[in-house]
Amino acid sequence: MLTLSLGACQTVAPQAPLRREVSSQALRYHVTYVREPEHALEVALELDQQEAQDFLFTQPGGVKTVWAFQDKEAPLALPVQGGSVRLPRGTHSLRYRYPLDELIRERGPGFFTGMGQGEARHLAGKSWLLRPRVASPSRRVELSLEGAEALLPWVPGPGGRYALTAEDLVNSGFHSFGGRRCQAHLPGTMLDVALLAPMRHWEDGAVCAWLKRTAEQLLTVRRTFPYPRVAVHVVPVEGVRTPNLFGMLMWSSPPSISLLVGQEARPEAMEADWAALHEMLHMIHPAFVPRTAWISEGLATYFTELARARSGRQTPERAWAELLKGFERGQEQAAGRTLKEMIEEDAPPGIYWVGAYLALRLDVELRRATQGQRGLEDVLEFLAGQGPTSTPVAYGAAVDAVAGKPLFEALWARSLPEPAFAGLEGLLEALGVTLTPGGIQLQSARDSPLRESLEAQRASGAR
Ligand SMILES: [Zn+2]
Repeated sequence: MLTLSLGACQTVAPQAPLRREVSSQALRYHVTYVREPEHALEVALELDQQEAQDFLFTQPGGVKTVWAFQDKEAPLALPVQGGSVRLPRGTHSLRYRYPLDELIRERGPGFFTGMGQGEARHLAGKSWLLRPRVASPSRRVELSLEGAEALLPWVPGPGGRYALTAEDLVNSGFHSFGGRRCQAHLPGTMLDVALLAPMRHWEDGAVCAWLKRTAEQLLTVRRTFPYPRVAVHVVPVEGVRTPNLFGMLMWSSPPSISLLVGQEARPEAMEADWAALHEMLHMIHPAFVPRTAWISEGLATYFTELARARSGRQTPERAWAELLKGFERGQEQAAGRTLKEMIEEDAPPGIYWVGAYLALRLDVELRRATQGQRGLEDVLEFLAGQGPTSTPVAYGAAVDAVAGKPLFEALWARSLPEPAFAGLEGLLEALGVTLTPGGIQLQSARDSPLRESLEAQRASGAR
């Protein structure tokens, strides 16, 4: 009947394909997590429009072929080239398979491409989620998932369906399938935690309590927690005792965090570690576009030491010792080169410490300019009011707005051609920070009240 009626219409005038008339108003992903014969993600995608269009795996390499379905045609095998797939006009749906365990077997475990233990797997959405190349925030996306309990950056709605936009798929964060779950509740936020395998020396609840104590330290920098819910993935690595092997925050919306931790790590080693705090501290600043490591890594590195001092995790002396140790590492990498050259090189660990040094200088300049009333954390509050992303120019403007006078450009222009850590000795002297053979000594000096305000919890008057 369908064929007949279509044929009849076509004798009158060219008709739009039937599918378009009934086409859904959303891009619909139906994802099935399969475990047999080995772990894989099978994706069926109903398109919301049948124009020719480009789709993309943000991180290419996992999927080689996408099958395209059109009315009355045999499925077309579309090659994925450099992550891209060109969908011919008339395509109403797609199917593809992300061969998770096959990739782990062939290439080894990958933080983005897939890793895990037992029945649980962790990977980044950018490896397996095909998305429109042009990702409009007005293009609706629905995603449903079966076959495994998943932790994605987003909260599912009724029926377990995720209501998203195409923009959400540009950076789709970290994803866990299977594994264990716990939650940490803090004022104004909740950490939704996937633990991919049990830790040898910790109960699941203790892992969540540790993450909670870590997250609480953000409130020594920001007035409120920046996001109401954040997904955190803890991926234990077998046979390793080092607490944190690697961590990353991805700018999904909201952000998601993954931490690779040694499965054999002792609780006291986890407690003393700073890496989880560093990753969480990235949430205190907006995502900088373009990526600007001296700002983002500088802020996270600088505030890691201040937050630990403010929360009583370490003494102020220890915080300064850590900063100075880092600046020394930065100076070794710089080997006399200028700030401009270090920023152009953009290589860790130097860029982290160059950035932390600039953060310290800006913080000091802001406090000097405002008689100790305002500091770098007020710049972060200011930027938070401007939205989830920012630019280096807007960062400089925010510093000036908080200072109440132009400050950033002059400091920046003066510093770029100088050696990367120029002025460090004079700054420490003014702050009353002295490195002695016995360790750091903190003394009264011209700017020591200012130094004390850095070490004290939210002492800038921004509460
Ligand atoms: Zn970082």
